[in-house]
Amino acid sequence: MNCMDCRFHDVIDDPDPHDSFCSHYEAVICHKMTNPNPHTSSRYKSDQSEYRVVSGMCDSGEKRSRSKTPEWCPLDAKEKRRLAHNTRKFESKKR
Ligand code: SF4
Repeated sequence: MNCMDCRFHDVIDDPDPHDSFCSHYEAVICHKMTNPNPHTSSRYKSDQSEYRVVSGMCDSGEKRSRSKTPEWCPLDAKEKRRLAHNTRKFESKKR
C-alpha cells in the first residue's frame, strides 16, 4: 500500500531554505492524523505541518518510493483493502 494512492494524502512544498539545491523538495502528509510533535520554529515546512508527515524532503521522483503506508495509518480494514487495490492498479499501469 502506498499513501500516494490514498484520498487523505496531500503533497506540500518542503524546501530547505538554506540549500538552493533542495528548493524543489516536497513532503507527503496525511490529513487523517495530526502531527504529534510539530516544531513551529523549524525551518522545514514538514516539521511545522499540523498534519502527520509520511515522508519529508522528497525529490519529486522519490515521493512514491518513500510513501509506503506507515504502521500508524488509521484506516480501517475495509479502507486498507481499497487502498491496496488502488496501489495494485497503479503498479499494474506502470508495467
Ligand atoms: S497514513 Fe493512511 S490515511 Fe494517511 S495518507 Fe497514508 S494511507 Fe491514507
